[in-house]
Amino acid sequence: MITQLLKDKLACPSCMGPLRFDNDSIKCLSCGAVYEVIDGIPIMLPADIKKQSDKESAFWEDYWGKTPMHDIAEVPKQADIISVTDHVVPLWDKYGKDCFFEAGCGTGRLLYLLAKKGINVIGYDNSPAALKYTARFLKAAGVSNYHLVCGDMRYLPFKDNTLGMIYGGGSIEHFDGQQKAIN
Ligand SMILES: [Zn+2]
Repeated sequence: MITQLLKDKLACPSCMGPLRFDNDSIKCLSCGAVYEVIDGIPIMLPADIKKQSDKESAFWEDYWGKTPMHDIAEVPKQADIISVTDHVVPLWDKYGKDCFFEAGCGTGRLLYLLAKKGINVIGYDNSPAALKYTARFLKAAGVSNYHLVCGDMRYLPFKDNTLGMIYGGGSIEHFDGQQKAIN
């Protein structure tokens, strides 16, 4: 099920057109593109990028399927995530509004820590398998104010000015065309 928060913000990544939300798919009312919804996660990848993703999906499904679940009690104590929250949380307190968007959310540890503070979080990643892992983790961790979207940073499927704060760490070095993503 696509959350209302996402319905209000999503647009077609190919043409920015308005969308129609059905149970297991999303259709662009402007260009006619159809996007899958897998386990409640909208897969908002333009067709050519989706093809590439599908080629790699068996590997990542296997990889994330075998990755042990985070030890939830340990996550807030992990030094690498503390060094992120120490900087991101004060920025959220100063500038954040509406929702926190993580571009390249990986396994969702930052989403968890912010959601636990009561912040609405959107996790964005180009790997459906990573997002399925994140969904399992966040559910097990007992937070519910999270929203997950699969997509490409160069083709953001969001209407302009609908993301209250955008953060991406360890992400833009993984692809070409960073300027488009940053713009
Ligand atoms: Zn479209």
